[in-house]
Amino acid sequence: DSFLPLEEQIPSACAQIQDYPKEGILFYDVTTLFANPEVFRRAMDELAARFEGQFDIVAGVEARGFLMASALAYIAGTGVMTVRKAGKLPRDTYMKEYELEYGSAAIEIHKEDIPAGTRVMLVDDLLATGGTLEAATHLMKMADLEVAGIGVLLELEGLGGRELLAGNRVEALALVS
Ligand code: IMP
Repeated sequence: DSFLPLEEQIPSACAQIQDYPKEGILFYDVTTLFANPEVFRRAMDELAARFEGQFDIVAGVEARGFLMASALAYIAGTGVMTVRKAGKLPRDTYMKEYELEYGSAAIEIHKEDIPAGTRVMLVDDLLATGGTLEAATHLMKMADLEVAGIGVLLELEGLGGRELLAGNRVEALALVS
């Protein structure tokens, strides 16, 4: 298995659940990937390498993006930022609402924690319609931060995510349809 290229190893390290959370959706469950020491390390090393020297901090989207952001920041020697679901942060925030593949949501970051112009590597586990990461890039702009690039483990093809994120560098370690 370790001889598989990462773009094959990543989807096969995920549990795949048909019709979750809704009929017609094939859900990629990355918890099995995070629990796999070899694939997790390889994936984080590869994502960090793709943006090496190009970011000052890593921002992860709640909750699975946090696991990635922490590992990436540790590798690169940077700090982390948490892009949180609305209603969890105690101080003044920027907030952005967005549409999900199933439903709608809002995310927030604290205002004025990170200096303007800081280069942010933005990460989440999976890119589907792109709504979540597009909202996160919007928050970065509100805070005058520079999006150095976006990194995901998995990109679902054909849902328009990459198009919605046009203008940003998007690195997906694996592409599935
Ligand atoms: P998007 O906003 O449509 O791109 O959806 C991406 C967000 O929804 C990410 O935060 C993912 O964690 C979550 N998501 C959507 N589809 C899946 C899936 O198949 N597996 C795991 N997470 C998913």
